[in-house]
Amino acid sequence: MSNLAAPRMTLVPPAFIGSEIYRLEVFAPPHPLAMPRAMLVRDLCAALGWLAERQYFEAAMATDAELCAFHDADYIAALHRAEHDSALPPAVAARTRIGLDGNVIHKAVFRRPAISVGGALLAAGMLAGGVPVYAPGVGNHHGRRAQASGFCFVNDIALAIIRLRALGIKRIAYVDLDAHHGDGVETAFADDPDVLTLSVHESGRWPRSGGQSDPARAIYNFPVPPGFNDSEMNFLLAHAISPLVRNFQPEALLILPGADALADDSMSRLMLSNNAIWDAVRLLRSLAPRVAVFGGGGYNPFALARCWAGIFGILNGFPLPDTLPYAAQALLRDLVYHRHGNRALPGHWVQTLRDPPNPGGLRDEVLAMEVS
Ligand SMILES: [Zn+2]
Repeated sequence: MSNLAAPRMTLVPPAFIGSEIYRLEVFAPPHPLAMPRAMLVRDLCAALGWLAERQYFEAAMATDAELCAFHDADYIAALHRAEHDSALPPAVAARTRIGLDGNVIHKAVFRRPAISVGGALLAAGMLAGGVPVYAPGVGNHHGRRAQASGFCFVNDIALAIIRLRALGIKRIAYVDLDAHHGDGVETAFADDPDVLTLSVHESGRWPRSGGQSDPARAIYNFPVPPGFNDSEMNFLLAHAISPLVRNFQPEALLILPGADALADDSMSRLMLSNNAIWDAVRLLRSLAPRVAVFGGGGYNPFALARCWAGIFGILNGFPLPDTLPYAAQALLRDLVYHRHGNRALPGHWVQTLRDPPNPGGLRDEVLAMEVS
């Protein structure tokens, strides 16, 4: 044996999973999802010169059988019916919440969620094979077995975890940084001690669950106060999230970097800059041999696109530029953001990826979340 025979660490480039279906305008203003999301991230990555053709994968639609690995067959039938008829009988809507609570029935209300699941299953397969995955269209963390919830018609994350299990990946950690509690994923695996679910979310915000941890069931919740800043997120990462994930020794780690916890997103009162989310991804990815990053919430297209494109840069090991190239700035300038109206765009929304950092004091309720 010589040193030459020693195995070499090779950096496997991450796969970017998307779908052209996300370009379909299915939501109309004032619905918060009436904006480009996953494919805007793809386009921004391409404009940055970060997306080699061989790294991009188009998700296929999941079959009914694949969807029913988590969802009830009756519920999937209702989704099909909603897309076909553009409506549901009131009793079915009341039971499934499809068409209610902002879960609007649109022209692709079956196909689009089914393709998100297809992306999640593709992600699981690649991840099991050792390929890091970035799938910003995946991330319907509120979806229930037989109900739509919080704009989520399916739970693509739960289905990815179930598929990972089928592929022999036993211990899985899920870290949810979206401003809202990851209730759907937590509930799906609450009785499975080999799936750790961890959620950082704004205290008191919808769905108002996630107030407590349950370590015996590998459930961890960090309900953080409004105004949550970069320093507080870094503290939680170092003193709570990292030790918990490290001790769990996951074979795979799934990260949901919801962009609605950013200060520029008015959907929550959390005040993170994208630097904090990027620091989280950099740190977390070192804690498991297999890592996938999904998407989640995020309702300011400028904030979402820049934060999430930066994540893909980090997964590739690229330096993040101080100033965006012309093509990237042009892409952002062309965006329509209904909720912002005609007001002038802040410079950092179009000129750079990086938000101004938002450091701040560590408040007692955050300090108390340190794990011993
Ligand atoms: Zn959210």
